[in-house]
Amino acid sequence: MNETLDITITKADQSRLTVTDFSQLPFGKVFSDHMFIAEYEDGAWTNLQVLPYGPIPMSPAISALHYGQAIFEGMKAYRQADGNISVFRADKNFERFNKSAQRMAMPAIPEDIFRQGIAALIDIDKNWVPNQDGYSLYIRPVMFATDPYLGVRASDKYTFALLTTPTGPYYSKALKVKIETEFTRADEGGVGYAKTAGNYARSLHPFAEALKEGFDQLIWTDAVSHEFIEEAGTANLIFVIDGKLVTPSIRSTVLDGVTRDTIIQLAKKAGIEVEERRVSVKEVIEGIENGKLTDAFAAGTAATVTPIGEISYEGKLHTLTDPATRTISAGIAKTLNDIRYGLAPDEFGWNWIV
Ligand SMILES: *Cc1c(COP(=O)(O)O)cnc(C)c1O
Repeated sequence: MNETLDITITKADQSRLTVTDFSQLPFGKVFSDHMFIAEYEDGAWTNLQVLPYGPIPMSPAISALHYGQAIFEGMKAYRQADGNISVFRADKNFERFNKSAQRMAMPAIPEDIFRQGIAALIDIDKNWVPNQDGYSLYIRPVMFATDPYLGVRASDKYTFALLTTPTGPYYSKALKVKIETEFTRADEGGVGYAKTAGNYARSLHPFAEALKEGFDQLIWTDAVSHEFIEEAGTANLIFVIDGKLVTPSIRSTVLDGVTRDTIIQLAKKAGIEVEERRVSVKEVIEGIENGKLTDAFAAGTAATVTPIGEISYEGKLHTLTDPATRTISAGIAKTLNDIRYGLAPDEFGWNWIV
């Protein structure tokens, strides 16, 4: 398990670091010099390599393109106060990646390939891990089916890749969101809990419609009754009602977010009561109106904690409390960031120093 794997390293002739402006980093567009690749063939992972980031040759018949066998993950590496580089809660992302793989009839990635791949890639591209406050290196593991075959069946061949992209701070401008009651993101028995390509593809049209209407994001409701809140599609949702942290429970239609789980643990430790249960749209709208709902935010790796400022439901816009007054979410977000950057003790053992 802990033996050192044989990873072939091919260095880029020239680094793009000197021509990269770290003050202009749109999310997910600027890639570091290298990537990690492994290939699955004849029942085994082979050909492990770190190589310059760039195009990889493939047939237009690969089954990922036609039938959607594709999964991904998202996590971040932080430059800590002492200069070390730490990847946050990689064990959770690793577990979830293989859960997604299992649901999509894809092979599991062994933990040593996942971990040693990340370590090798970050080692060669360590200068791509930003050291400004609020910055990090986003790590994107991805796996896709590569059989050049048009029959509908699970592929025999797969590619696993790790890409990294430096990212800057997100604006935490409060979001204007719409509770979606026509389209759905996920249904019982489906693939909502997996980070698989199709979940995002199906959300793009409803999302584009919401953007046109002036919203920043959607809140998805359950596919059966549209009465219960599920999540935001790239982030989980957390509310403060009567001083308690309330969040939709994890089910097959809701992705088990690492940030959500982290915030729940930090809240409990801070003595805040946490309720994981079904959350109705009615309760949220009434809570805004009677003042019991004092905070609402989206929680995900990319943005951490993003306050929700306005919620539209059935054509009526409801304005929430002023984000500047929200001490609970601001406090938790600060603790979380301090742990990530090594400014607060890592009591839960979340940081993996690579
Ligand atoms: C990635 C993702 C989240 C957030 O999960 P984190 O592990 O906190 O980044 C929430 N919902 C969906 C659908 C996602 O894909």
